Amino acid sequence: MIVAGNWKMHHGPESARSFLRKYRPPTGMEEEPRVLIFPPALSIPAAREALTSNGGVELGAQNMHWETEGAYTGEISPPMLVELEIRHVLVGHSERRAHFGETDADVTRKVRSALEHGLEPLACVGETLEEREDGRVEEVLRRQVEHVLEGASGHAGGPGIRLAYEPVWAIGTGRTATPEDVSRAHGNIRGTLAEVLGHEQAREIPILYGGSVKPENAAGLMEAPNVDGVLVGGASLDPESFAAIVAAGSGGRKSG
Ligand code: PEP
Repeated sequence: MIVAGNWKMHHGPESARSFLRKYRPPTGMEEEPRVLIFPPALSIPAAREALTSNGGVELGAQNMHWETEGAYTGEISPPMLVELEIRHVLVGHSERRAHFGETDADVTRKVRSALEHGLEPLACVGETLEEREDGRVEEVLRRQVEHVLEGASGHAGGPGIRLAYEPVWAIGTGRTATPEDVSRAHGNIRGTLAEVLGHEQAREIPILYGGSVKPENAAGLMEAPNVDGVLVGGASLDPESFAAIVAAGSGGRKSG
C-alpha cells in the first residue's frame, strides 16, 4: 500500500515545517504503508530538514520539465530534483493538464526523462465528467496509459512507474468514486498494462486511486480489489487527517 499526499499550491516552507512537526505516523500498524508527500517545489528543502526527525516519509515533486536545462523560465529540471535528493515526481496531474495545457505527448516526455534521471514517476490518468457521461472511460484511460508506457518503454530493469487513477470529476469536488467504480477502472488500466507489458510486469505496477479521499472513505477504497494505495489532495493538508488515512492504509489488500 502507498499513501501519497499532494499538497498542490499549499504549505510554503514554514507551513511545511509545521505540518511535519505535527504529523505523527500512526503506531501499531499491521503493515506499514509507504508514505509519500509531494510539497510545492520551494518547500522541499524545508520539508527535508523537518523530516530528519520524522523518518518514514518520502518526498516527491509535483511537476518537472523533461529537459535537463535551458531557456524554460519558471520550470524545474530533473537534475535539480535529483540534487534535492527527490526520488518521486508526479506527472500528468489533471490540474497540470487542465490549467497548464499538459498533453499526453508531454506526459510521455516527462515519464521518459524522469526514468532517465533515476526518478520514479507517479503518472496520473483519469476521465472528465463529460467523457464519463459519453461512455468513454475505457478509451480515455487506454490512451493515457499508453502514453505513459511509451515514455517508459525500453527502460532497463522494468517500467519503474506508478499510476494514479484520478477521475477528474472526483478531484477536489467531495464526490468520490465508489470502490466498485475504482476497481473497474483499475481493472481496465491493469488490462492495458498487461497487453503492452505482459501479465507479470503489469502486476508489479502499483495503481493508486485519487479523488476526494478522506479518513472516512480511505479504508473502503484501499480494500477494493486492484487498488494499491491512494493519492490524497485536500485531506493531506492536515497532519491529523493525513495520519488517519495512513492508518487506514495498514489494513488494505494488495492486487493479486
Ligand atoms: C489530487 O490533487 O491528486 C487529489 C486527488 O485531490 P483531492 O483529494 O482534493 O480530490
